Amino acid sequence: QVRPQPVYDVIVVGSGAGAMSAAVVAADQGLSVLVVEKSDKYGGTSAISGGGIWIPNNHYFAEKGGKDSYDKALTYLKASTDGKIDEERLRAYLEYAPRMIHYLETRSRVRYAVAEKYPDYYQHLPGSLPGGRSLDPELFDTSLLGDEYDNMRKPSPTTLLMGCIAWTARHAHKAMSREFGWRLMILGLIARYKLDFKWRRKTKMDRRAALGASLIAALRRSLMDRNVPLWLNTDFRELVVENGRVTGIEVVQGGKKMTLQARRGVIFGSGGFEQNQALREKYLPQPTRVSWSATPPGNNTGAALEAGQAIGAATDLLDWAWWAPTIHVPGEEKPRGVFAERAFPGAIVVNGLGKRFVNEAAPYLEFVDAMYREHQKDSQSIPAWVIFDAHYRFNYAMGPLMPAQVSPDSRLRKEWLNTVYWKADSLDGLARQIGVDPAGLDATVKRVNEFARTGVDSDFARGGNVFDRYYGDSNVKPNPCLAPIAKGPFYAMRLDAGDIGTKGGLLTNANAQVLHENGQPIPGLYAIGNTSASVMGTSYPGAGGTLGPAMTFGYIAARHIASA
Ligand code: FAD
Repeated sequence: QVRPQPVYDVIVVGSGAGAMSAAVVAADQGLSVLVVEKSDKYGGTSAISGGGIWIPNNHYFAEKGGKDSYDKALTYLKASTDGKIDEERLRAYLEYAPRMIHYLETRSRVRYAVAEKYPDYYQHLPGSLPGGRSLDPELFDTSLLGDEYDNMRKPSPTTLLMGCIAWTARHAHKAMSREFGWRLMILGLIARYKLDFKWRRKTKMDRRAALGASLIAALRRSLMDRNVPLWLNTDFRELVVENGRVTGIEVVQGGKKMTLQARRGVIFGSGGFEQNQALREKYLPQPTRVSWSATPPGNNTGAALEAGQAIGAATDLLDWAWWAPTIHVPGEEKPRGVFAERAFPGAIVVNGLGKRFVNEAAPYLEFVDAMYREHQKDSQSIPAWVIFDAHYRFNYAMGPLMPAQVSPDSRLRKEWLNTVYWKADSLDGLARQIGVDPAGLDATVKRVNEFARTGVDSDFARGGNVFDRYYGDSNVKPNPCLAPIAKGPFYAMRLDAGDIGTKGGLLTNANAQVLHENGQPIPGLYAIGNTSASVMGTSYPGAGGTLGPAMTFGYIAARHIASA
């Protein structure tokens, strides 16, 4: 007896933020929707991310009196993507991103607030804003998920205050930059956590989720509100194509192959290929390692990319990732991204020659891109080394090292010495331990110490714009991103050329339809998020530049399917 094939209008592959946004919108359009997720947890990289979304011209900023416009944002995006992205796609993004977030805010459980002070990443480009386009998720009460919370991919406790208290990116920034009132704010967060007696009896973890976990929890609850099924442990393998149209997918579930029919469309929201070493070696610049990626191990291995290619889909940007330097910590399943700390005053990054090669405070994509460019010259910049002194160590965090004033060396894990950090009484001794040229390092530090005194980095202009200074220490003068490296002991940490996902993939049009190599849309097939070649091209225009487009093109795909 042949079992009937499950039939849905729309099948969404993957359960990251883009995929689940698409599923919510498709369900609201009256379509029957199924979400399939390969792993035993839903949420993907989106769940462990900051959850920030970059939405130019959004209503939150406007309501606070902020000034932005479609035209201004288009000027900025055209400049940052360097004319290499089809303008129709850029326009679709700018038109629908604010509508998408307004829709989710009013129709679903998703809630955001504007991070007014988070600047666009390229302050030198026309149309950039010093803040107002990046949105930060509000805290979400996970008790609303019931048992389904157990199936969610959980963020690392390191993203939580004291390893257990949820805080937003706005909270974290206020504390990190020691803005007025930050101590009171922390006390408030701790008090609210402690006074939640009912939840405290259940678990040490906060009832609330923040960042990407908040976004994913809110989207999952929104799917539950709509009775949209989400199948875990269901691995997409191949597309089913009939007469040139995608009509379904083949999956493996519990070791068994199954065909699922999609009457109206298949939406790939199954991430990039960053967890596939063979594809990394095939497409990304070398050297490259899965173990440098800050994304969940084993999830995103590029099955959708290969299935699309197998039916003639066009691709783009396959040699690009959303680069971010990472630090490996023994015993942790993935490395940690180094996003903010590079801008703190008193830490510099050098290559094997002991030379700086980039503005340390630069956006993370440009930082790793510079590692690769420099490495091509002399094979000395992957890995790179971040160097700081005892003054920095006392006051600021670096990767897993919390400031020594709260976590002195004596309290660090023993196995971290010479694996996560290196330490010596002199810069010369430090350089020799890590295999960096001592004379080069000495000359660099002398030069940077002079920059710290004058406040002007004549080599790389660090701290020269509002983006750099966002993570600087406003109490440090004359330049909040520069301080001398003078007080021993001295420290070094290794930075790898990591990523937070790949950004190349299936080429799509303004409707998120996958294009065939002949330029025509492949009927029934859509791609969003890191499965698609990014609408941002080789740029990262602002915080939330990956999730914003993933959710926006999810919204667009769902509506296009409904209207087709
Ligand atoms: P994912 O969210 O990874 O979702 C893909 C899902 O598809 C996964 O669950 C995966 O298991 C599933 N899948 C894969 N293959 C299959 C298959 N064959 N069958 C079925 N399912 C499959 N970006 C921002 O914009 N803002 C931020 O604040 C931000 N912060 C970040 C912080 C960190 C620490 C990291 C690591 C990343 C951050 N990013 C951020 C990047 C962002 O998280 C990713 O670019 C984004 O989540 C990618 O979304 P996606 O939907 O394409 O993939």
